[in-house]
Amino acid sequence: MSSLPTDCPKCNSRFIHGYSVEITGGPAMVGFWIEGLPKKAWFGLKLPPKKEWIPLATLRCSGCGYVESYARSELAAK
Ligand SMILES: [Zn+2]
Repeated sequence: MSSLPTDCPKCNSRFIHGYSVEITGGPAMVGFWIEGLPKKAWFGLKLPPKKEWIPLATLRCSGCGYVESYARSELAAK
């Protein structure tokens, strides 16, 4: 699999590797990419099985603040 970009396509400054986090009153979780459109449930969203969730890695430009996200299984929390 290809590596993540190192430089911002907007201003050519260096990207800083990070991740987005979901905090909803329970434990903090890494953000995930889920295929398809969101479906409402009685409380929150109806989600597919967790094996189909792909963790999001986020790159933030150190110069202009531009953010890119990548959904890649190898970037799961360890
Ligand atoms: Zn930039």
